[in-house]
Amino acid sequence: MGEHPNPFKRNVRTPAIYQEPTPHLDKDNPFQDMMERLDYAAELLNLDEGLYEYLRSSSRIHITSVPVVMDDGSIKVFTGYRVIHNEVLGPSKGGIRYAPDVHLDEVKALAAWMAWKCAIVGVPFGGAKGGITCDPSSMSAGELERLTRRYTANLMDVFGPDKDIPAPDMNTNEQIMAWLLDTYSMHVRRTETAVVTGKPLLIGGSEGRREATGRGVMTTTLAAMERLGLRPAECTVAVQGFGNVGSVAAQLLREQGCSIVAVSDVSGGYHNADGIDIEAAMAYADAHGRSLAGFEGAEPITNTELLALDVDVLAPCAKENQLTGANAADVKAKIVVEGANGPTTPEADTILDEKGVLVIPDILANAGGVTVSYFEWVQDRQGYFWSEDRVNRRLDRMMRAAFDKVYDASEKYDTSMRIGAYVIAIEKVAGALKLRGIYA
Ligand code: NAD
Repeated sequence: MGEHPNPFKRNVRTPAIYQEPTPHLDKDNPFQDMMERLDYAAELLNLDEGLYEYLRSSSRIHITSVPVVMDDGSIKVFTGYRVIHNEVLGPSKGGIRYAPDVHLDEVKALAAWMAWKCAIVGVPFGGAKGGITCDPSSMSAGELERLTRRYTANLMDVFGPDKDIPAPDMNTNEQIMAWLLDTYSMHVRRTETAVVTGKPLLIGGSEGRREATGRGVMTTTLAAMERLGLRPAECTVAVQGFGNVGSVAAQLLREQGCSIVAVSDVSGGYHNADGIDIEAAMAYADAHGRSLAGFEGAEPITNTELLALDVDVLAPCAKENQLTGANAADVKAKIVVEGANGPTTPEADTILDEKGVLVIPDILANAGGVTVSYFEWVQDRQGYFWSEDRVNRRLDRMMRAAFDKVYDASEKYDTSMRIGAYVIAIEKVAGALKLRGIYA
């Protein structure tokens, strides 16, 4: 991509908070990175300036103080966010993240990515994201429950099955979604299962939801291998991040015959040229507080070394900004499949593009999660639940179709799959916006 003039940046009239990155966060700012890709795709499509301004703006930003009585009786006030990027295609949808470094620009970027993701896989949702700046690892279950319930109560007017539907993201899980469901239901005086997805099966969750994102990573990787003429049984894979997305992606790619030669988590990397026993690694992490520290089925390496391994597929499934201008040149993989959101900076994109690496972008590769969230929402509203087999077959079909659409767009515009994905998303959301018109 590199430097390019951006004719759209003139005449921006919307208040800056909705459109611009926070100045002091310009470096490695995910909102800035998202905008750069959006700008580029908008130029390719010669998008109308007004439509472009609409697409680059967050529609609504909610920032709320979340007071919690801690176990020792003290009161702590946390900052909670919910950003609705837009609702052009339907009610907004997006996860909630708990982490010490959650900040507004991150949530804004993640909300926009949700809007593009939904458009690419063809689910009738707009994009949203939420977050609370907190350190969940230092909080008790009771403190997390009170935090979740108060955050939900503060945002009662925002959430709703026809309005805005949250889901889990980093450091939030089924239990947290169950508390959110319960709090919302208490306020509306009825059990409203469709207000949240990623919840436990017992209270309206879907079969296959927990594995959905990793499964989508597997499906899109197989599709990319096919395009490159690679056979799964002859491919080696390195996976960064061994949480919900990374561990399932590793497990399913292994089931397809790939050899998973390295995995990692925040404790470091683990390498075994003969292939890691992924079931054993998952069992070890489960038994050790979801950490691989001390896992003996592989040699320790650093996360930096993992990214530079001589493998066929590299799957960054941990967090943002892992492949940067500083390390992208060292990548030896033929395919990079982005299980995480925003793992590759625009600078790294250019380098990987020049090296001929096929990057399956986040807004396609990890869209399996929102696809099965959509299935969950549909099942809750119908009161009729599908088998795991039906969920997986429908997911595979939608991910495969989305991959083909994005790949074809990248060929048509002679660009990367990332820009191809943005092109598909922009065409769809801008097309819908034109039909709806601007309400005055
Ligand atoms: P998770 O909390 O279950 O797992 C994250 C994993 O990454 C953990 O193993 C953690 O130790 C590891 N990690 C954290 N920092 C690291 C670092 N610096 N180096 C190496 N490993 C590190 O989270 P998750 O749900 O698997 O989400 C991972 C990524 O996938 C996030 O970017 C998230 O936004 C994205 N994502 C998740 C879903 C979903 O359904 N869970 C859907 C779409 C996208």
